[in-house]
Amino acid sequence: MNSHPGSELLISFIWLLALVAGIAWGFMTRPLRIAPKASIRFFFANMSLSAGIYLLTLRTADANLLNWLLADMAILSSFMLIGWGIQQLFKLPSSVKRDCLILLLTCALMLAGQLQQLHPIFLGVVFSVTATVFLFSASQNNFQAIQKDFGFVAACLMSAPLFIISVIFFARTLILLWPGTDTDSFVATDTAEAMPLLWSYIILTLAINIVMIGGALARLVAKIRQFAERDQLTGLWNRRAVLKKLQEMHEQWQKHHTSYSLILLDLDHFKLINDSLGHDAGDAALRRCATTLSAVVRTQDLVSRYGGEEFLLLFPGVTATELPHIAEKIRTTLAGCQLIWQNQPIELSASLGYITVYPGAKAEQLLTLADKAMYQAKAEGRNKACLAIIS
Ligand code: GH3
Ligand code: MG
Ligand code: MG
Repeated sequence: MNSHPGSELLISFIWLLALVAGIAWGFMTRPLRIAPKASIRFFFANMSLSAGIYLLTLRTADANLLNWLLADMAILSSFMLIGWGIQQLFKLPSSVKRDCLILLLTCALMLAGQLQQLHPIFLGVVFSVTATVFLFSASQNNFQAIQKDFGFVAACLMSAPLFIISVIFFARTLILLWPGTDTDSFVATDTAEAMPLLWSYIILTLAINIVMIGGALARLVAKIRQFAERDQLTGLWNRRAVLKKLQEMHEQWQKHHTSYSLILLDLDHFKLINDSLGHDAGDAALRRCATTLSAVVRTQDLVSRYGGEEFLLLFPGVTATELPHIAEKIRTTLAGCQLIWQNQPIELSASLGYITVYPGAKAEQLLTLADKAMYQAKAEGRNKACLAIIS
């Protein structure tokens, strides 16, 4: 079938590559169970790609359903599955309906093209346009998800392969539409001229798998970070993370004198909620407190669960003049929010201690002073905000 020895070797290599990658993703699904739902899609993407490339190698100039339509559909399904895998991996909105519609439309156009014996360029253009849409959409999803957790540079690097491939398919569309394009290099795979095409399939298979591996690793790292830095009940920063942020803020103060403030807040008579309505009601109250606090502060402020029903809030750039108003706003907002638990109203209120960084202060010192102020607020009747006294 393949008369050129070099191309024969490359074709075998491509199948092997896609097959091994597919098996590896199969292992991720089971028994390893690492992102199983996304991994199963990546498994099928590789298998579909491998089947499509195999059928492609049987392609001759006279179009037939097996080596044209089926080959192209298998490769396009593979690109579509990559997009679905990325959506699954990062819990993004699904585009299954839209993609199935595009694939059906592509299939109908190709079928009509073959039955009408249209020029191969028509089939090539339809294929390339759909490939561009699927790969561009996958690269866009990948970029947005990675940018959220790892920033712009990491997102660019990790989405570049998919983006570049989508650009190549777009360029292929334009080349095909260019008057006088020679279609032979898009058809036969058993000749020396087909070598660049075969190499491009190898790079495609490798690049796609690198993006998928990168995505799976990014998701894993984001999950590990989530467990290490976030409080499981409220989703707020945990004690470990907020103390690290406090140190960083303090270093900024020492270097550039950028002021910052903090508020330590403890819910009043919280034990009563647990004792009268149960632990689940207490948990719901903690979650409500977390959403209320997050909503009342600015985006650059930091809200953390410091202990059981204690919250530590950091305010970068906030000065001693602004802080009392912020503390008062938080106190009144919390006191004004009412939670209904199984038809029973739960009233929330908190005692707050607040302080702004001052020359010669250490970060731990600020915490101790804020804690003292918070206990003073408790002693003075609760539902109160007290300024820490610098001793
Ligand atoms: P005070 O006004 O003096 O702060 O009174 P309090 O009842 O809030 O203070 P205390 O420190 O005695 O009680 C805190 C309670 O918070 C005790 C503990 O059972 C409860 N708690 C701590 N963590 C959690 C949690 O994750 N869920 C629930 N439901 N309760 C918690
Ligand atoms: Mg309390
Ligand atoms: Mg407490």
